This record gives sequence, structure tokens and C-alpha cells, in this order.
Amino acid sequence: MNPEKVITRIAPSPTGQMHIGTVRTALFNYIFAKQNKGTYFVRIEDTDRERNKEEWVDAIWNDFEWCGLKPDAKYRQSEHIERHKELLQKLVAEDKAYISREPKKDDPTEEVEVVRLRNPNTTITFTDLIRGEVSFDTTEHGDFVIARSIDDPLYHFAVVVDDGDSCVTHVLRAEEHISNTPRQILILEALGYTRPTYAHFPLILAPDRTKLSKRKHAASVEQYRTQGFLPEAMINYLALLGWNPGGEREIFSLDELIKLFSFERMHKAGAVFDIEKFRWFNHEYLKLLPMQEFVDRLSLFMTERGDTVPPYLPQIGVELRNRAQTFGEAADYLKGGEFSFMEDTIPAPTGELLLQGAKADAAAVKTNLTKVVELLLEHEPFTAESVKEAIFPYATEQGRASVLWPMRVALSGKEKSPDPFTLAGLLGRKKTLERIEKALRML
Ligand code: GLU
Repeated sequence: MNPEKVITRIAPSPTGQMHIGTVRTALFNYIFAKQNKGTYFVRIEDTDRERNKEEWVDAIWNDFEWCGLKPDAKYRQSEHIERHKELLQKLVAEDKAYISREPKKDDPTEEVEVVRLRNPNTTITFTDLIRGEVSFDTTEHGDFVIARSIDDPLYHFAVVVDDGDSCVTHVLRAEEHISNTPRQILILEALGYTRPTYAHFPLILAPDRTKLSKRKHAASVEQYRTQGFLPEAMINYLALLGWNPGGEREIFSLDELIKLFSFERMHKAGAVFDIEKFRWFNHEYLKLLPMQEFVDRLSLFMTERGDTVPPYLPQIGVELRNRAQTFGEAADYLKGGEFSFMEDTIPAPTGELLLQGAKADAAAVKTNLTKVVELLLEHEPFTAESVKEAIFPYATEQGRASVLWPMRVALSGKEKSPDPFTLAGLLGRKKTLERIEKALRML
């Protein structure tokens, strides 16, 4: 065991909605820190003033909070600008870096004074926890630029200073940063910081094996949140993208992930994001919610979406949850009128509709509905199952269509709806009997 305290970080740039890949990187940083009783912090890399926007800074805090990944500390890179400048000047003073006057790239008639690192032109080798030993020949970089001017350090420089000052022990980040690592190690060595351990996570791919992008595919936390995915499901699914604990089991809480995670079981190849699988995970997590919590969270989701929450939501919760894989889908079912039979205001069905699928005449249907009322009048308990037990033998005897069709139409008022037992269970005895009696008057 390494005696030093593990410190990890996620360093998102506020340039747009948060990509789910960033959540996955944050998650592994969080898990690894917690597993080792270390700390995990968020650093917002906001020094690129042209690309960053304040609204995206707020979005980062909100998204991490929503995902349940609470950092032990957080700061913005811009808070450290003076420190970046101080160390840049120190490197120049020590002649490890130098000011270079050169023509401006986009306008060669003007001159700039960039700062370049004196590259010792060595081969940099580091051990990546996922990829093993990785070597880069750094001569191709030459004396690379580390600041646009003595007052304006570049991103690579700021990252190294911040990681060094924060004593980050493990830099665990996306694969796209692997080629930055040798340059960052050269800067780090010039500054005299201890080298952290690195790991570069495989990319998250779309089904066509291109990089999962926010423009082409749904890839941001916000997109999934507004579709009504649960953060717990997102965390679980993202953890299994590129990693698995072995075995068949797939549902893991964050605490279980903290116990089980290991870099040895991380894959090197890109992981394909499968929306159907994610929906499956979400459905499993919806089913794990206590019913009251399901109703409360769905109500909040619907209110935020601007939908009206129907008062009968608690009664239909179980049925709705069986059908919907996301809160968005559940809300769509409600909005689309799939449960409008729960409304007190539905008109009584016409005699024509009551007979339409009954394969019997009005007199027979009348007799059957009267019998249904009689059978249900005192039947206990009044659930979908027990109503079925009460009615089914009679329906089988009379011809099912002649009993169950008019009963279903009487209860729903509609041509298509759930079966009559489900409807009766959802409506309860009083409304069930009232509606059948109302239907009887239409015949
Ligand atoms: N700011 C970088 C990004 O948003 C992360 C840099 C790092 O993790 O070292 O991709």
C-alpha cells in the first residue's frame, strides 16, 4: 500500500453542457479517492476566456450535485493565475524557459514574446494504470510554448502547477489527454514537482464507433436529465462502460462500486454507449424506488417540465412504473391520455361502444353487467387480482367477450385501455360500481 494520501481531481472546462464522459471520469476519480480514503476535488479550468462561459460553470456544479458526486473541495483555475505567473517567471529566471520574440502566427508583420520551455529532448516514459508503460519521444515538440506572454501561461502549464500545488497523486483522465502527458511531465520536472501516477480512460463511443458527441448523439448530462433518467442509474451504467467487476451482476450502488473498483478490470478499448442498455438500467432503478419516492420524484420532474401532476398519480404509480423506463416516458403516457380513465370527468360510453366487441346483444350485456355489479358489491379485497378471481369464472361461462368487453369499456370509456381487472383495481370499488351502473343506463 502506498502510504501517501490519495488525491484525485476532475478538471472540466466550462465550454458547454457537461458530457457524460466527464461524469464517468469524475466518477472513477471519486471512487478511487474514496476507496483509498483520500480526497477528490473539482477544478474548473476557466482560464480560456474566449471559450468559457459563466453559465457553464454553474452547469458543472449543478450536474455534479445532481449525479451525487460531492467533491471534498472545489476551486476555479482562474483563482490561481497569480501563482501560474509567479512560477512562469521563476522558470525564466532559472533559464529553464525563455522568452522568445517571434512573428505572430496569424499576422507575421507583428511580433510576440512567447515563453518556451527548454526541452531536454529526452524520451519520457510513464506507467499508465490502464495502458501499462507508455513512452513518448519529446524531441518532436522542440522547445514548446508554455505561455503566450510572460503574463499569460498556457493551459498545460496551469494544469501542471495546479496539480502540483494541490498535491494530486493520481491524474485519472480521458484518453484524449494521453498525448499531453509527456509535455506536462517536462513542465512538471522543470518545476520540481513530484510526478503523479497517470491513468487514461478509454473513450465512450457511439454505436457506429465514432466518438459519442453532444451534437450528433445525446451525450450531455442535461439531455438525459431532461429525458427523466435517474442519476443513480447513470452512475451505475457509466461505471460499467469500460470497466466490469466480473460475473453476471450489473446493479451496483456507489458504495459497492467503491469497494469493487480496480484498474486491472478496466478495458483499454473504447466502450460503446448503448441507449437501450441505459434505459434498462434506469427501469431497474425506478423499480427499486419505494412507491412514495417514485411518485414524489416523478411529480417534481413533471412540475419542472411544466406538466400538471394528476391527483390520481399515487393510485396508478405501480402500473405506470411497469410500463415506463424513464420519468420522461411516464410523463408522456400521462400527457398522452393513457391514464385518462382515472379522471372523474370522463363521459359514459355509448351503447354502441359497449356492444362493439361484446359478441352479444344489449339484453345479454345488460344481464352480464348487472351480474358483475352483484359479484363485486361486497367482494373483498378489491384489487385487480381479486376482481379477476370474482369475475373470471362467470365470464368464462357466459363467453368472455360478452362480459369483459363491456366491463372494460364501462370502466375506461374507451375502445382501448388496460384490462378490466387492472382498471377496477386502480379505480377502486366505489368508482367501478358507479361506472358500470352508468353504462347500464346507456344500454
Ligand atoms: N480541462 C481538461 C478537459 O476538460 C481536462 C484536463 C485534465 O484532466 O488534465 O478535458
